[in-house]
Formats: sequence, structure tokens, C-alpha cells
Amino acid sequence: MNVLLPGLGGLVAGLLLGMLLQSWRGSRGGGNGSLVPAADNLPSQLGNRYFRGINYLLNEQPDKALEVFLQLADVTPDTVDTHLALGNLFRRRGEMDNAIRCHQNIIQNPDLSEKTRQAATLELGEDYLRAGLLDRAEELFTSLADQKILTSVALQRLLEIFQQEKEWQHAIQVARQHEKISGQSNRRLIAHFYCQLAEENRAENNLQAAMKWLDQAEQSDRQCARISIMRAEMSAEQEHHEEVIRHYQQALRLDADSFPLLIDQLIDAYRHTGSEAQALEFLQRWLQQHSNTSAVIHLLALCEQLDRLDLLAEVLDDQMRQHPTVGKMHALLRLRASTGSSSSRDIASEDISDLLQPLLEKLLQRRDGYQCRNCGLAGQTHHWHCPSCRQWDSTEPVSGSLGE
Ligand SMILES: [Zn+2]
Repeated sequence: MNVLLPGLGGLVAGLLLGMLLQSWRGSRGGGNGSLVPAADNLPSQLGNRYFRGINYLLNEQPDKALEVFLQLADVTPDTVDTHLALGNLFRRRGEMDNAIRCHQNIIQNPDLSEKTRQAATLELGEDYLRAGLLDRAEELFTSLADQKILTSVALQRLLEIFQQEKEWQHAIQVARQHEKISGQSNRRLIAHFYCQLAEENRAENNLQAAMKWLDQAEQSDRQCARISIMRAEMSAEQEHHEEVIRHYQQALRLDADSFPLLIDQLIDAYRHTGSEAQALEFLQRWLQQHSNTSAVIHLLALCEQLDRLDLLAEVLDDQMRQHPTVGKMHALLRLRASTGSSSSRDIASEDISDLLQPLLEKLLQRRDGYQCRNCGLAGQTHHWHCPSCRQWDSTEPVSGSLGE
């Protein structure tokens, strides 16, 4: 026998098992609703055709098998489950034309129950999605949702489609509908869609429209830090540095995890307003409750600039004892290098510093800054919308010795 794909082997086994079970039940006068019809319950010509179909499957001739099963489904509704399974198998194998034909054939059969045809319609929609026929999928799921058939699933699929097509206003509508029927909150999701609309307007330099979308986003979810971050970024473009500081501070109140995402820009804004001393105070306060490596690094730079390296020793010591990271180690070595010249250091530790510094720099350059808590995708870029698993707001700073 040829090497079968796992799905195909499973289906054939299922078909044969179903057939045996059904003929056993049939002989005891038992129930119905099985996977496949009993061969001996079918006219013998059909039973033969059924076996021929399975043979084609076993010989990896799915096109011929499809022809046989299509004819069988025309004859009796009993074959419909087999037919659905076959369609799904084609989809898993990426044979989208066959999958679509298979499912369309079920829908067109007026002898089948409404429920069965709805199930097949849903599968056909999945085929269209997988085949990238988004227009057709959209049409199909919209009509299901309009008729209040399988509404929750239909709306979820529409939501996926509109996100793929970047049709954010439609996505917002659908997310609201979905909220109503599922009782599940889509507030954060909707806020992100409004943020996307704001981003589009920002890219076209229409800042006023972008601001309005952000207000809408805030009405949907007041706790969404991205809104404050975007406001800060737009204020920075207009060089309103006081506002930048205010918005970033608000983002940090909403989500302490946004710290590494915004700290460079926040410190910049403090510099622009000439309030480095305030920035230094802020970082000291922050480090009393948090352990961000990027806070330590910025604190070091500010202390160097303001000639206040005396403030650092204690902070760094605490940080290294409580949450040691490579980044903090690096900062500590830098501190020793810049303060040690006047004090008496032993040569051994100086050598260690010289060796460690470039090594740690390389390590730090290569580290992943962010990771998706849903699918684990890691990289140096922060994503609001994970490109791998398509979750919103699932990216968080990497922790551990190389992270925050
Ligand atoms: Zn992900």
C-alpha cells in the first residue's frame, strides 16, 4: 500500500469501521445516525460503488473517489456525514477545488435536513477562507449571520475576514454584534480597531481625524495603554513635549508592561523640556516598585550626564540582588569603569570587566525584546497584533536574565 497521509488513513479506517458497525447494528435492528450507510442496507450496486470509492481513496486517487462519493450523496442523505468528512479531508490536504465541490454538492441537495445543509455551508465558508477567496467567504458568512443561523461562528469568521482585509469599521460593527449575542466583551479588540483607524489617518497626516478615532477607542476601553502611547507619539510629532510626558505617564499607569516600549521617547521628552532632574527622580521612584533593566540603563545615563553617579551604587546593588539581569550587570560594570579610575581597583576585576563588557554588549544586541504570550513568537519588535497567531495585545516584554 502507498504511504497515506495521516488524515486519509484515518478517514478510510473510519469509513470501514462505520460500515462494519452499521451492518452489525442493522443485523440487530439497531439505531441510525452513523458515519456511513451499511453496505448491505444499500442496493448491491451502491454497496459496490461505495467500496470502489474507498478503493480509490486507498490508491491515492482522491479525484476518482470524489466522483463516486458525489454520486452516492445524490442518492441518499445517509452518506452525508461521510461526504462532510471527505470535504474536510480535501481541505486539510489543501485540495481546495475538491473540498469546495464536495461541500457545494451537499448544500444543493434539497433532500437533506436544513441543519445538515447549514453545517455544510459553514464548512464551505471555511474552504473559501482557506483558499483565500475572502469575498465569497464574506458573502457566505454575512448571509448566515443575517439569517441568524450559526450566528456566533459566522460573526467570528467575519471578524477574521475584516481584520485580514483591514476593514476596521466593519470589524467594529461585527465585534459589537458578536458582543451582544455571545455576552463576551470585545472592548479591547474594538479599541484596537479604532487605534488602527487612527494609525491610517496619522499616516495620511490627518491628525485631527486620528485624534477623533482615539477618543472613540477610549470610549470603548479606558484601560487600553496603546491609546495613550499613540497620543504621546502624535504630540511628539508636534513637539508638544509636556503633553508627551503626560500621555506616556498615563500609559504607564494603565500598563506597567509598556515601560520598555516607551521609555526612550519619554526620557527624550524630559530632555526636550530641560527637566532631566525630573526624569532622574521618576526613574528612581519607578525602580522602587519595578525592576526594569531599561530603567537602570537610562538611570545610569542620566546620572552620568548630571554627574550624580553617587545616586546609583545603592540602586544598582539592590537591583542586582533582587532581579539580576545581563543588562544590569553591564550597567554595573560601566559604573565601575567610570567611577573606579580615581579609586583603587584590583587588576583582576579590571580584566574581568574588559572581557565581560564586549561580551555582554553582543548578548544584549541579540536578545529578543518581546514575546507573544499566546503563541510564543519572539523578536525585537513589539506588535499590537501578533503576526503569527493574530491575537491582539498578546505581546509582552521578555523577562529573565536577558530581559526586563
Ligand atoms: Zn502570537
